Amino acid sequence: MNRFTQTLSERSLSLRRARPEILQVNLGKLCNLTCVHCHVNAGPKRKEIMTRETVDRIVDWLANTEIPTVDLTGGAPEMIPDFRYFIERVKELQPSRHVIDRCNLTILLEEGYHDLAEFFADRQVEIVASMPCYSAKNVNAQRGEGVFEGSIEALQLLNSLGYGIDPALPLHLVYNPVGAFLPSRQEKLEADYKRELEKHFGIVFNRLYTLTNLPIGRFAAYLRHNDRLDEYMQLLIGAFNPATIEGLMCRNTISVGWRGEVYDCDYNQQLGMQWEDATPSSRRGIGNGGDSSLFLWDVDPAKIKDREIATGDHCFGCTAGAGSSCGGAIV
Ligand code: SF4
Ligand code: SF4
Repeated sequence: MNRFTQTLSERSLSLRRARPEILQVNLGKLCNLTCVHCHVNAGPKRKEIMTRETVDRIVDWLANTEIPTVDLTGGAPEMIPDFRYFIERVKELQPSRHVIDRCNLTILLEEGYHDLAEFFADRQVEIVASMPCYSAKNVNAQRGEGVFEGSIEALQLLNSLGYGIDPALPLHLVYNPVGAFLPSRQEKLEADYKRELEKHFGIVFNRLYTLTNLPIGRFAAYLRHNDRLDEYMQLLIGAFNPATIEGLMCRNTISVGWRGEVYDCDYNQQLGMQWEDATPSSRRGIGNGGDSSLFLWDVDPAKIKDREIATGDHCFGCTAGAGSSCGGAIV
């Protein structure tokens, strides 16, 4: 039993899946940036990207479900050659599905992507954009030199298309701490962001989501390097908040990797905690060579609810303080 499961059991809490509402697809590890906090270890040299065949298999599976939202992430998902094809196919489904793009903003200004913002607006794709601070110093320290200036320009471009203004074009920003500490209160930070971005750059947006850095990937390496991993874990464990359990994203989100593998969340994905088939191998048939690892197309949508969720020490990052999810603070 890991420390997280133990903490739940001491409080008579259980963590099981509810009805799936979001299909979060990680299209690959390719990215134009190499941020220090990145839990995906993404960057310009990564080769792991989704193929068209996998895109088709995912959309075909989705078509047979009632999951209303598709959430695209990466890396920089926009850099995957079939990214637009994926969105077009999802938008053709009946009933229609809502699409979210998790965008690092700077990609919208890169050569070859100049018409992407308009593509999003035409298809009413919701944008959730990383913006770890409203000051240039902090953003550039975490994401790289010039990223703040690029992000501001991209936000202004999105505003000029109606993002953050037209209710059909939501624009949300994501904050994560620039070090080994918990985010401050979401409402307070959102008010600060709104005031500063509007005053200095004329930028408007809808919501600010605060995210806690989970101790995995590049952020764990950074903590280890500075001999602060244990201290950070103690901070997360000490701030465990049972009220966050109900709203954890692993309860209503299915996470899919670039090869179509399935996980409980994007963090478990980066840790390789793939779903496994509980059916005995003798009854699984010969097609999969006896391997119990599950891909999306192996999953029966009717059997997702109540499924157990795989956890580990990193889960304390989602339950600390006000909690943390792809939609920001939980409580
Ligand atoms: S945090 Fe996002 S933008 Fe930064 S390297 Fe990772 S995937 Fe790319
Ligand atoms: S890391 Fe967070 S979202 Fe993922 S399984 Fe753990 S608690 Fe759930």
